[in-house]
Amino acid sequence: MSDSYEFDNPCAGCGTAAEMDCSSCGTSDDMGCAGCGTAAEMDCSGCGTSADAGCAGCGTAPAAPACGTDDGSNCASCGADCSDRTQPQITKKPLNQMSSVDNVIAVVSGKGGVGKSLITAMMAVIMRRRGFRTAILDADVTGPSIPKTFKVTENATANDVVIFPVETKTGIQLMSINLLLEDATDPVLWRGPVIAGAVEQFWTDVLWESIDYMFVDMPPGTGDVPLTVFQSLPIKGIIVVASPQELVGMIVEKAVKMAEMMDIPVLGIVENMSYFECPECHGKHEVFGKSHVEEIAKKFNIPNVARIPIDPKLSAAVDAGMIELFDGDWLDSFADKIELQMKEETAIN
Ligand code: ADP
Repeated sequence: MSDSYEFDNPCAGCGTAAEMDCSSCGTSDDMGCAGCGTAAEMDCSGCGTSADAGCAGCGTAPAAPACGTDDGSNCASCGADCSDRTQPQITKKPLNQMSSVDNVIAVVSGKGGVGKSLITAMMAVIMRRRGFRTAILDADVTGPSIPKTFKVTENATANDVVIFPVETKTGIQLMSINLLLEDATDPVLWRGPVIAGAVEQFWTDVLWESIDYMFVDMPPGTGDVPLTVFQSLPIKGIIVVASPQELVGMIVEKAVKMAEMMDIPVLGIVENMSYFECPECHGKHEVFGKSHVEEIAKKFNIPNVARIPIDPKLSAAVDAGMIELFDGDWLDSFADKIELQMKEETAIN
């Protein structure tokens, strides 16, 4: 990274660059704003926290009327219970002026280690093979594995306006915290709001040039960071990745319900490690138990499913950073349907 660009880890609570004193709550804390500490998608004039009865973040009661408008366009920051208050406001972060991204698709999982990053990478490879300008935003800041999967080792560069993504061998644009760290093995010891702020900067400050498909490798689970990412990026749909065991539990249902609550459509479910195909007899063995993906998809009215086998060639491709060479048609018709859905959505809007 060039010296001229300041990757400033803004306080997600009040939006102020955290190296500077936070003007609203007065805290200077480069691990995030300890004063308000909240991932706040709503704009309280004080510190950005949604605070009906005074601002929990900076302690000030929003001035009345805090929103300064009478059309309710900023009523999340106002304590009044007027008729304009219908639902919490969600502020999508704008891209920089030089960037454009048509379709943002988040890849989520209930927990780590189920193959979310692998499926993110495979979907990006498939779309790139189809000739689309494709990108991956690695939002799994505490467990970033995308650069290694593509054997991208160089650091991202920047000027004083934008950060440039790093391009893979086949031309997929990547941004990941590992491309900004001096040593990719350094752990990221940041609190949730700071992580969410970094992901927002990956969206707002990176030069995403005419991207057709961006896949976001989300942090696992339904916690603070995925919630903030869902709220700040214009995600058109999500792909849920789960192992067969997870599909019988509640973890996947939680992820699906979270998407529903955020009003983001679930484009499909991928059951990863669904079976093992014997290379000798080609018999399929459901090592982790019977598949439940069709059942779950039906329950939640999700029309698109895929099943990926446990395949040592896939893990070898990831380990060698050669995922762009993967061979297998498991996700082809799944990707067809997503492509169609995105085209229909674009035609409508
Ligand atoms: P997550 O992003 O959910 O934490 P990863 O995509 O990093 O999970 O996958 C965890 C590990 O499992 C990786 O080493 C990956 O290569 C391996 N893996 C995932 N899915 C498969 C599969 N279907 N066959 C073989 N190895 C897999």
